[in-house]
Formats: sequence, structure tokens, C-alpha cells
Amino acid sequence: AVEWEKEMIGLLGEARLLLDMESKERLSKDYYWYSPVLERQLKEKIADGIVIPKDEREVSAVLSFAYRHRIPVTVRGAGTGNYGQAVPLEGGIVMDMSQLDEILEVGDGYARVQCGVRLGSLEKHLRERGQELRIYPSTFMKATVGGFVCGGSGGIGSITWGNLWDGNVLEAAVYTMEEVPRRLVVQGQDLYPYIHNYGTTGIVTELTIASAPKTEWMQTVIHFNDIASAVQFGEALAKEEAIPKRLISPMEWPIPAYFVPLKKVLEPGAAAVFLEIANGTLTAVSGLAQSMGGRVGHIIEAEQYRKTIGLSDFTWNHTTLWALKMDPAITYLQAGFAADRYLEQIRLIKDEFGDEVLLHFEWVKNGGRLSLASLPLIRFKSEERLYEIIRFFEANGVNIFDPHTWVLDSGGRGEVGAMQRKKRENDPLGLLNPGKIVYEP
Ligand code: FAD
Repeated sequence: AVEWEKEMIGLLGEARLLLDMESKERLSKDYYWYSPVLERQLKEKIADGIVIPKDEREVSAVLSFAYRHRIPVTVRGAGTGNYGQAVPLEGGIVMDMSQLDEILEVGDGYARVQCGVRLGSLEKHLRERGQELRIYPSTFMKATVGGFVCGGSGGIGSITWGNLWDGNVLEAAVYTMEEVPRRLVVQGQDLYPYIHNYGTTGIVTELTIASAPKTEWMQTVIHFNDIASAVQFGEALAKEEAIPKRLISPMEWPIPAYFVPLKKVLEPGAAAVFLEIANGTLTAVSGLAQSMGGRVGHIIEAEQYRKTIGLSDFTWNHTTLWALKMDPAITYLQAGFAADRYLEQIRLIKDEFGDEVLLHFEWVKNGGRLSLASLPLIRFKSEERLYEIIRFFEANGVNIFDPHTWVLDSGGRGEVGAMQRKKRENDPLGLLNPGKIVYEP
């Protein structure tokens, strides 16, 4: 038992403090093991105790308590992050936010929720009311709104609506880490130090996110002979503003071979583009595909949407998950190709690495501009080789957001300078998720 056990039980009651080894191990981990580098470095890290507040008053009480005792606090949503964001590097308290799970208000074009609401539940709730999420990660069934905003970037829907920095987060309530925690309400540009902050600059308890009018979606696969044509078709479709879409994911063969549940319906040897498009647009989409050498394959009709395993369950970082199931030696990178020279970049990478690097992409909007995001699969040989590959990408103008580090400054996408300034104000003792941001109090 930890020293602060009694006082914490007095504050929140016994049921809200977990000290058994099984809970501490389970709730100190996320999906960092996608990286063999992080797997080695993080597997022993464990919290001294897990605290599960049920409302903001308890969040505030835990923070004040931890401040007085100088105990680090690492926040956890659903723990589906990939870089050890939610792993407590210095032990202390892991604060599990999953009980703050109330949908507070749905208005025209927005939803106000507590941070622990799962994106999947919110999507269902919104669709029952004629609206839907604008953007969500492929982990949306498990992931929380707070975890997505503080640890994610973008996902399904980003082809239309951009990422977390593109006006999709409207307001946040944030608690500071002080003896008397302040509750800040933040909007607009002031949200930047909290988006993708790994819980280092404040604890987000409530979020207002933008929603979109509901669309009836369908999904389909278009096959191409090669990855270059698949990506070019993706770009052409992305530019068809009249066709509403949530997903354009081109991938090279043999990546589709990893998707066991789709084995019977995918064309062997072919590159594929996984699409989520508005119901009623398939004729236009298949016309465009055929004009560029594509063949319409598997279709999930609007009536079947989300009733079976969906195509989006194989995109974004779910691609890595399916590949890892077949081949545990696989890992991945996070990359941004250049929209004006991606064909050359793809050719250079394939010529250099062959099947050691397998490419799949997501066309997205980024600050209003069409961009080509990618989470390349890598057959891992050694850390040195991994960084050789990274250097090759960078030397050829492909941006890398390194997923093999937990330090925001190296791997993150947020405004790190603004975060460091905000951290000085909000967390003067540096107790929030220590080690995740380079910071001197
Ligand atoms: P957690 O992992 O619990 O937390 C993430 C970070 O946010 C941690 O640093 C945590 O401390 C912090 N945090 C959590 N809640 C709060 C809070 N209330 N206040 C302050 N800080 C907080 N990400 C994408 O962006 N797009 C994708 O498409 C995507 N696909 C994925 C696919 C797979 C198979 C996997 C394993 C991961 C994927 N991810 C993706 C990463 C991750 O799943 C998402 O970012 C997800 O939204 C994280 O939510 P979570 O609730 O699990 O957060």
C-alpha cells in the first residue's frame, strides 16, 4: 500500500482508489508496444495507485492532494494512445477519467461533453439526433473525447473537416495543478496549448466539439494495379467537392493481405483504396475510378453501415494492428508526404527499401490544404535501421512525426512552445505527466 492511501480514501472513498497489482499494471499501459523501441523502455513503468474520480469536484480534490504531497499525476482516457502518452514515467497517480462520461448538451453544430465520454457513444447519440462527429480516430469505439483531443490528431472525417487544430474543438474546461486548482474555460486560439498536450498543461474535464449534419454513408474498395495510381485517384476524388466523404485510404499490396476478415473480398496482388462516401455517390465515384484504371470491388451498403466490420476498421493506425497480428516484427512511422511530389517520394522509398517499408495513406485536409498523411509499416530490424529509414524519408522531403518517442517535442504535432509557457502557469511544480514535455519550472 502507498503512504497516501488513507488520506485518498478519506477524500474519495475506497472504491475510487485501486492499489492491486493487476489494476495498476493494466491502467499504467497504453498501446506503446506498437513500437519495439518504446516496448523496451516503458514495459516496467507503473503507477503507485489508480484514482477514478466521478466528477470535477473529485478531480480538483485529487489535484490539490497531489500538489500538496508532490505526487505526479498522469491522466488516462481509454489508454489507446500509441506513444506511452498515458504511461506514468515517474509512478505516482494515474487518474482514470472514464467515469466523467456524461453527454451534457447537444446543440445545432456542437456537443458539450465530459472528457470521459467515448467517441463511439457520442457518435451514436449524435446520429440519433440528426448530427454526427466531424472527425474521430479509428479507435473511436473505445477512445474518449478527452483522450482524442489531448493525445490524438485526426482520423475519419479529416478529409473534409481537417484535424484537431482546424476549428473542430470549440471550448474546453481545464483544471490547473496547484494547491487550489483553478477551473479555466478556454476557447479559440487559447485552446492550442491543450490540444495534443498529453495532459501536461492541465486536466481537461469538459469539451465542446463541433458536429456535422448527419450523412448516410456507404463504404467501398477500389482496386488499382499499382499504388501510384491508387494515390492519384485518391487525390482526384478528394478534389471532387460535390462528393461528401469521410475516408480516402490508398494502400499498396500486400497490406490488404493482412486484413483476414476481408480476405475473400479483396483482389489479390492489387493496390486498394478504402473509401467512405455518401450514399448515392457510387456511380460518380466508380466513373472517376474507371477513368483512372480502377475497379470497384467490395461494397458495404448504407443499410449495412456499422452493422458489420467496417472498412474504416482497417485504416489509420488500425492498419498496423492487423499487420501486427500476422507479423509481430512489424512496426510503423507517422509521415506527411508532399502533396506536389508524392509520386517521386513513393518511387524513391520503394526503390530504396522494397518490402521492408509498406505504404498506406490517408488523404486529409490540414489547415484547409489537401495533404497526404501516411503511417508506413516497417519490418523492424534494429533501432539504427529504423532511424536510417527515418533519415531517408526526411532527406527526400517526407515529414516524420516520430512515434518511437513519448517526448512531445520530438514526436508531437502541437504548439510545444505555447505548451511550455502554459505549463509554467498551470503546473508550476511540473507534476502533470512528467517527462512527456521538455520543461524546466
Ligand atoms: P489515452 O490514450 O488515454 O490518452 C491520450 C493522452 O491524452 C495521454 O497523454 C493522456 O494523459 C491524455 N489525456 C487523456 N484524457 C485527458 C484529459 N481529460 N485531460 C488531459 N489529458 C488527457 N489517433 C488518431 O488521432 N487518429 C487515429 O485514427 C488513430 N488510430 C488509432 C488506431 C489504433 C489501432 C490505435 C491503437 C491508436 C490509434 N490512435 C489514433 C491513437 C489513439 O487511439 C487516439 O488518439 C485516441 O483518441 C486516444 O484516446 P484515449 O481515450 O484512449 O486516450
